[in-house]
Amino acid sequence: MHSVELRNTRCALCGTEGNAAELYPANFDLEALNPAVFSARRLPDRVHYRLVKCNACGLVRSDPVAPPELLAQLYHQSTFTYTDEVADLKRTYGRYLARLDRYGARKDALLEIGCGNGFFLQQALAQGYRSVRGVEPSRAAVSQAAPEVRDSIVCDLMRSGLFGPAEFDVICLFQVFDHVPDPGPLLDACFTALRPGGLVLSLNHNVTAVSARLLGERSPIIDIEHTYLYSPATMRRIFAAHGFRIRKAGSVRNQYSLRYLFRLLPLPAGPKRAVLDWLQRHSIGRVRLWVPLGNLHLVAQKPGV
Ligand SMILES: [Zn+2]
Repeated sequence: MHSVELRNTRCALCGTEGNAAELYPANFDLEALNPAVFSARRLPDRVHYRLVKCNACGLVRSDPVAPPELLAQLYHQSTFTYTDEVADLKRTYGRYLARLDRYGARKDALLEIGCGNGFFLQQALAQGYRSVRGVEPSRAAVSQAAPEVRDSIVCDLMRSGLFGPAEFDVICLFQVFDHVPDPGPLLDACFTALRPGGLVLSLNHNVTAVSARLLGERSPIIDIEHTYLYSPATMRRIFAAHGFRIRKAGSVRNQYSLRYLFRLLPLPAGPKRAVLDWLQRHSIGRVRLWVPLGNLHLVAQKPGV
């Protein structure tokens, strides 16, 4: 890992390199580039690259970052550790999937990019989607998929040519878009894989949310896994730049257990672990709340019918 050379990045919206203001300097050493750090929903440890904000368009990105091939390898070896939270995530994501009816979603074929163990694919089937596919780089996550959806998941990164043109009616990305080192080609691949009139639903962090502004560098979203951080405005712009019509861009209310919310607080690890253990043993830790906790959602449509 010591031979890793970080690469400078260009703004994915305006293509400029360098024309950006530093928000936070990097605070990690190359040892942090290991599969545990790149595993889903690990305890936030506030390790991050240097973060910058583009002077021209306001898009926030990490610069420099690890090479994409190394990131792909880390995600391939990463583990799936959020099984405790799956029931809440199903409810949250399911609620936003159901709202796609407002935009005329055809419930034929759905693709989820970064589907973990496929729990949301089961949710989509329960909501009446006739066929579901998933893409997931972590082989550990795929190996934990339920038999119902296991064969529907490709262990890979989404890229052009992985699926045929106009194959899907809906494409979902949940806490994935921030992790993509080169979002332009991913958006083009989604656009091609959607039929005309098809929809993309993305839920990801909102860098302009109140929680992110209050916590600053201590926010769990300032994280080495995130190569970009978006606001509703920059989400609109990047999807529009790749041909999509924006149907909705707004904040998200997630359902969380008290124990999970406590996990996110920027507290010292020792006392935090003690309280988490206590919350694990007591029913109050399982109390559930709908909270607007700094996520955004975007619904974008491929033009045409
Ligand atoms: Zn820019």
